[in-house]
Amino acid sequence: MATAEVFDVIVVGGGPAGSAMGWSLARRGVRVAILERAIFPREKVCGDFVEPAGLRILEAMGCIDALDAPSRLPITTNRVYFGPRLAYRGEIPYYEGGHGLPAHGYIVPRDQLDTVLLERARAASATVLQGCAALDVRRDGETMAVDARDATRDFTLRARLVIGADGVESTVAKSAGLRRTDRRHIGISQRAYVEGLDVEGGEATIWFDEDQVPGYGWMFPMPGGRANVGVGMLSESCHRFDLSVPRAFAESIQRLRIRHPGCANARLASRPIGGVVKMYGGIDRNHFDGGLLIGDAGSFVDPMTGEGITQGMESALIASQTVLDALEKGRFDAAFLSRFDRDFRSYFDPPMLYLSLCAVMMRNWHFREFWWRSTLRGFEKAQSDPDFARVAGSAFGGLNLQPQAIVGQIWSSIFAHLAQGGVQAIGDLVSGRGFRAGGLAGDVEAWQRAWTASLKDDAAWHFSWLADVAKTLGRVLPSLMSTDNARVRGPLI
Ligand SMILES: Cc1cc2nc3c(=O)[nH]c(=O)nc-3n(C[C@H](O)[C@H](O)[C@H](O)COP(=O)(O)OP(=O)(O)OC[C@H]3O[C@@H](n4cnc5c(N)ncnc54)[C@H](O)[C@@H]3O)c2cc1C
Repeated sequence: MATAEVFDVIVVGGGPAGSAMGWSLARRGVRVAILERAIFPREKVCGDFVEPAGLRILEAMGCIDALDAPSRLPITTNRVYFGPRLAYRGEIPYYEGGHGLPAHGYIVPRDQLDTVLLERARAASATVLQGCAALDVRRDGETMAVDARDATRDFTLRARLVIGADGVESTVAKSAGLRRTDRRHIGISQRAYVEGLDVEGGEATIWFDEDQVPGYGWMFPMPGGRANVGVGMLSESCHRFDLSVPRAFAESIQRLRIRHPGCANARLASRPIGGVVKMYGGIDRNHFDGGLLIGDAGSFVDPMTGEGITQGMESALIASQTVLDALEKGRFDAAFLSRFDRDFRSYFDPPMLYLSLCAVMMRNWHFREFWWRSTLRGFEKAQSDPDFARVAGSAFGGLNLQPQAIVGQIWSSIFAHLAQGGVQAIGDLVSGRGFRAGGLAGDVEAWQRAWTASLKDDAAWHFSWLADVAKTLGRVLPSLMSTDNARVRGPLI
């Protein structure tokens, strides 16, 4: 059965990206329908961490009053463990406010966040159809047709444009031939809620374990001694080396109880559930004849942290400009809609390609000891050097990411190490102690061991990885030269 109404735009998926898109268009008078498979409130597997840039968008959308529960903990500090070692404890150095950004994050369970966001889109006069799954998207003459199903019937909705905001397993991306399955850019994770914690205020905890890389674990505190706890790892490494995320999750809970004094009595308050993220480096294009992909459907997730709530909403607000332009000019072909790719690339590329380069380099599992050692050293330096922390630390979820400054900082600290290590090495040699495997010398040895092991394990894979590093470096270089980071200002709202 087909409904007679032809919308201007159908948004498939009512998560943060779809709701931000629906809200942005509806408030400008566009006739927009949001098709959502679930009936809200619904659970969504997530760490629930909304960073300051996400809160800035929620504020602009008028959601903060509904979400700013007095009991919610502003996240301003963190602990970072490397194995059992507490490498950093203190302020999240790059949560500094400015640019309309609050100086904190919030942990907002997704059943709450997404319900409030979808309600804002409805209040702006978007038509919201819940319990309604898109099955297929196709061109039908002058319009786009979305075949859908709810509890009672199959039907077809029509619009001039379709926006895929339907998450990692996007039906819209599949219909457009753009669904991504490349394990190099996919993270897999598991999370649960825990209770029984005695944690100070809004102090988040993250940890790196050498047997769980590339990846990390998190404990994000909530009121009442509860927290969201999880672990995420790169799909490719899990596949190649038979690493199990559920096993890593179970071990992480055990380790957290031992390491973190406030988590000694942590117990599971919910069943651990797995999820997937698709990262920015995996994007080829996010436009097709008659539509666009945003949020997780378009792979906008931060390649280092796995965060995608903010990026999903940003991608929606950027895409809404292309949609308004397309509606005004009556152009819905792929060539016209490619403007979206240019827009999101000029917005996201400078910070995200740098993060992709870090992620690509860390992809080689054999180098885990090297990266673990050098990142540990970075966090320890951050503990005593606030400037280093503010600039280099921003690669772990900061907004004002300045690749040039980070690279400069890292080189200057390598030179400082060399100077220090050089004196030590000469002293060691003169006194007959030989070369000690600590500091930089240890890093060099770890690098050499990793290189040999990687080549021996799979030479073809090793060289394809090197080619990936070179290709990503080539893409990053132009944006390394740019000093402008549009993400700091945020998208046009
Ligand atoms: C374990 C884990 C932890 C994470 N932690 C964080 C974190 O702490 N902070 C952060 O910022 N990000 C985090 N992320 C990433 C974040 O969850 C996503 O990036 C974010 O949800 C993307 O929003 P979205 O609107 O694009 O997609 P989604 O939130 O996935 O929303 C898509 C919506 O589309 C609907 N849908 C799907 N298919 C159809 C269909 N065929 N028809 C109709 N509707 C459909 C779904 O029901 C869903 O409501 C995490 C992800 C995982 C897996």
